[in-house]
Amino acid sequence: MSSTWLAADMLVRRPKSSFNEDHRVLEGGEFWRRLPGYREVDEATFLDHRFQAKASVTRVDQLHSVLRETVSDAFYQAVEQALSRATMSIRLSPYVIALIDWENAERDPIRRQFLPMATHQLADHPMARLDSLNERQHSPVPGLTHRYRDKALFLTQDRCPVYCRFCTRSYAVGNDTDDLQKDKISAQLGRWEQAFQYLREHPEVEDVIISGGDSYSLREDQVRLIGNTLLDMPNIRRMRFATKGLAVLPMKVLTDDGWFGALVELNKRARKMHKEIAIHTHVNHPREITDITRRAAGRLFEEGIIVRNQTVLLRGVNDDPDTMRLLVKRLGFVQIQPYYVFQHDLVRGVEDLRTSLGTAIELEKQTRGATAGFHSPMFVLDTPGGGGKRDVHAYEHYNSVTGVSVFRSPNLSTTGRYLYFDPIDSLPEEGQERWARPEEHERIVAEALIAGGGDAERLILAAAE
Ligand SMILES: *Cc1c(COP(=O)(O)O)cnc(C)c1O
Ligand code: SF4
Repeated sequence: MSSTWLAADMLVRRPKSSFNEDHRVLEGGEFWRRLPGYREVDEATFLDHRFQAKASVTRVDQLHSVLRETVSDAFYQAVEQALSRATMSIRLSPYVIALIDWENAERDPIRRQFLPMATHQLADHPMARLDSLNERQHSPVPGLTHRYRDKALFLTQDRCPVYCRFCTRSYAVGNDTDDLQKDKISAQLGRWEQAFQYLREHPEVEDVIISGGDSYSLREDQVRLIGNTLLDMPNIRRMRFATKGLAVLPMKVLTDDGWFGALVELNKRARKMHKEIAIHTHVNHPREITDITRRAAGRLFEEGIIVRNQTVLLRGVNDDPDTMRLLVKRLGFVQIQPYYVFQHDLVRGVEDLRTSLGTAIELEKQTRGATAGFHSPMFVLDTPGGGGKRDVHAYEHYNSVTGVSVFRSPNLSTTGRYLYFDPIDSLPEEGQERWARPEEHERIVAEALIAGGGDAERLILAAAE
C-alpha cells in the first residue's frame, strides 16, 4: 500500500517531462528528402555548406519550387502579404526549410521565426522602436558598441546565413544582394581598423563579442585577421564569435574545413596565451538540434572550443515549459552550454512573437532544477533605452495590469530607470483599455516610474524621444 502511495506522490510532484529522455532523440537520416524540391539531394550535397548557401531561399517563388503543393496557395499569399510590410527580408537555408513541419506550417515554431504570415500580425506596442537597445547611441566608432566598461560588441558586417523576423538589429542587418555585399566588405576593412584602434586605446576592454550579422559570413582569412588582431592586444582576454550558424547551418562546421581550421588555429593560439575563444550560438527550439548539430558541436568540443547558446524567448516557439526544458536538456546533451534566454526586445513588426515578462519568470522556475545548474540558462531582459541586461526577476516594479516593468542598472547608470512593456494582448482587459487611449500613455509610464523609484519627469522625456 505505502509504496503505491509513494509512486503516486512522485508522479504528482514531478513534471512528466523530467522522466522522459526525449532530449536524446535527435532527427537523423535524410529527413530533407520529405520535401519535393530536395527529393534528389543526397547526404554529401546536403552537408555541403556551399549547397546550403547557394540554395538558400530569399523569395516566395523559390520557396514554392521547394515545397510545391505541400502547402496551400493561401499560405503563399499570407507570406507574400506579410513580406510587403515586414522590416526584415527573408532568407532560409535548406536545413531550416527541411526542419519545418509544413503540414502544420501555420503553427510550426520554426516557420514562425523565419517566415511571417499576414494572418498572424498584431499591432506594435506604442512604445516599440526600431533600435530599441540604443546601440547606435553607444557607438564610439561605427559598428562598435561599448556600453559595459570591460566588454564591447563589434558588428563586423551585416549578413547572416538566415534572417530572423525578430532581429534586434533589423535597423542594420538584412541586405542580401550579392553586389551590395562586395561593396560593403571592401569598405569595411577601414572601419574594422577604426574599431581595432579604439580597442587598443581602451585597455579597460577585456572582452570582445564579434557579431553582426554573423561570424559565419566572415571568410576564413577574416576570422584569422580579426582573431589574431584581438589576441595581439594585451588587454583582450576573451572573445566570442557570435553565430546563428549552429542552429541553421550546422554542416558548415563539418564541411568548411578552411573556416573551421581558422577557428581551431585561433583557439590553440588563444589557449597558449591563456585567453579564451568561444562560439555563442542561437538555438531557439529543440527541433533545431539534429544529428547534424550533434556532429558539428562534437567536432568543436573535440577541439576544446567552448560553445554557449543564447535563446530568444518567442511566443508560440519556446514559451511553454516542456519545450524550454527539452531545449535546455538537448543543448546540454550535445555539449552546448545554455547561457541566456532573452526576453524578446521591444522591436517593431513582431508583436505576435513577444511574451510578457511574467512568462519569462515562470519559465525560469520551470527550467531550473531540470538539469545541471551550469546548464540552466539565466533569463534576462536587455532593457530598452540601453540599460543593458537584467535578470528578469530583478525588477523594481512590475504592474500586472499595464504590463510595465521598471529596472535599475547601477553599473551603467546610478539614477536611470529602464522600462519594459508587455504585449498589450497579454494584459487583462483593464490594461488593454488604458493602452487603447493615447492620452493615458504618459500617465501609465509616470505611475510605473514613481512606483519604481525613478525621477518621473526626466524619464517621461526619455521615453518620448
Ligand atoms: C549583451 C552585450 C554584451 C555581452 O554581455 P554578456 O552579459 O557578457 O553576455 C556586451 N555588449 C553589449 C552592448 C551587449 O548588448
Ligand atoms: S542571426 Fe542574429 S543578427 Fe542575424 S538576423 Fe537572426 S537575430 Fe539578427
